[in-house]
Amino acid sequence: MILSIIFGLCIGSFLNVCALRWKSKESLFFPSSHCPQCGHSLQWFENIPVLSFIFLKGQCRLCHNHISLQYPLVELITGFFFGLATFFYPFKMITLSESFIFSAFLILLTVTDLKWKLLPHSFTHLFLMIGLVLSCIPKIHLLLSPAQSLLGMLVGGGLLLIISELVPGGMGGGDVKFASGLGSWLGLYGLLRVFIIAFLLGGLTAGSLLFLKKANRKTAIALGPFLSVGALLVWFFPNVVGFWMKGIAL
Ligand SMILES: [Zn+2]
Repeated sequence: MILSIIFGLCIGSFLNVCALRWKSKESLFFPSSHCPQCGHSLQWFENIPVLSFIFLKGQCRLCHNHISLQYPLVELITGFFFGLATFFYPFKMITLSESFIFSAFLILLTVTDLKWKLLPHSFTHLFLMIGLVLSCIPKIHLLLSPAQSLLGMLVGGGLLLIISELVPGGMGGGDVKFASGLGSWLGLYGLLRVFIIAFLLGGLTAGSLLFLKKANRKTAIALGPFLSVGALLVWFFPNVVGFWMKGIAL
């Protein structure tokens, strides 16, 4: 489990790079890691997940500009979910790898949506394709068949497409593709559960922000992070979520 957490921290670091380099349209592997402010190339000891941030006191060694708290946070969250996956499925290699991939994509998409209100198509497409391919493996985590995966994908995308048509400006094409991707991983029932959790959480958050006067009725709130939280709950706690949703026959 310790190894999984360390692996998660490293993948978290990679997710940070993916998000940043997607935005700046740089290649993933070239140039090597550098400070976004002064361009100084990072030495190996400045590139250790979480620890470097602590030792460098959150500053670049050369230009002393602040390093965003996003970097260690994403690393820690990824480490947490990789550890959780190993705790739940210690000897199930397929489920474990699936859980790693699933949580990594959700964290990556949450970062891009929170930071730039964007769910890049290159990431959502890949997420969707992997979901469809994995449903062809018999021992998949949620025991989905390829047909269920396909149905989840169509309903997920379809529902959000209808909502986005009905409520203009409320949702983007990224949300539609992300929901299709979630459908391909979770199937129809899993996806509907995610929607319920996401809309509840989103509604509560929007309500609290309005109440605290931190937002007005026109403030756009990104849906992606709420979908991600719902999806992680459905993925890691299918029985608990199922128990609470029994009342509405889901
Ligand atoms: Zn710098």
